[in-house]
Amino acid sequence: MLEIEALSVSYGKREVLSRVSLSVKEGEVLAVLGHNGAGKTTLLKSVVSLVRAESGGIHLDGTQLCNTSPRTAAEAGVRLLPSEFRGIFSSRTVLDNLKIAMPARMGRDKARQEQEIAYCLEIFPDLRQKLKQPAGSLSGGQQQMVAMAVALMGRPRVLLLDEPSIGLSPNLVQRLLDEVRRLSDSQGLAAILVEQNANVALRIADRVAALRTGTIIREAPAGQVTQEQLWDLF
Ligand code: ATP
Repeated sequence: MLEIEALSVSYGKREVLSRVSLSVKEGEVLAVLGHNGAGKTTLLKSVVSLVRAESGGIHLDGTQLCNTSPRTAAEAGVRLLPSEFRGIFSSRTVLDNLKIAMPARMGRDKARQEQEIAYCLEIFPDLRQKLKQPAGSLSGGQQQMVAMAVALMGRPRVLLLDEPSIGLSPNLVQRLLDEVRRLSDSQGLAAILVEQNANVALRIADRVAALRTGTIIREAPAGQVTQEQLWDLF
């Protein structure tokens, strides 16, 4: 479904991703593990064209996404849940954030918009009471729910999650990731989950890839990765 082929990215003269190849299928969760600065965020940002690739390809069912635009990626059904600022407008209400996130391909049809908002509220019922509040006034956990609901507006085919465990209680992390797993199983959502916290990622992942200083050093089914091997990776 999503194929990343020999992707290389540099910041100035410094190469931070070196010929990275990865793929994720419909209904599959791929965990990309790596230490600080390994290039995990850069990898996700390049998939949605927030950073420019020097070479390589990124295809979604054959459509080239590499070095297009975040909007092109979103319209194709690829959404990023960023770690920095969680990608929401804190001075706008929760409802506004959801409305803004509606992809253009779904048109400006009000009924459709309401249907999509209802879908997100079914997943995160806690947000029902918060719709009229500025997103920035919510707790960290609730803001993360808004961010995830924003990413799910328009039902993406591929969700990219950048360290969702940062700043959240273990309970909430579990809830969010269980939701990702449920959407993968029930709706065929493909997900790439970037984490430093390997144990969090392994709970829901089908496959694991280890990224070390910009290179994929290992890939394995999640069930085959032992704790010792994880220590080995880092
Ligand atoms: P972290 O968990 O700390 O976010 P990461 O694995 O996500 O780490 P990246 O954020 O992709 O890693 O960063 C990879 C390397 O590129 C790091 O050494 C980082 O300092 C550097 N880097 C990231 N963004 C930029 C930028 N905009 N300009 C220059 N260097 C950058």
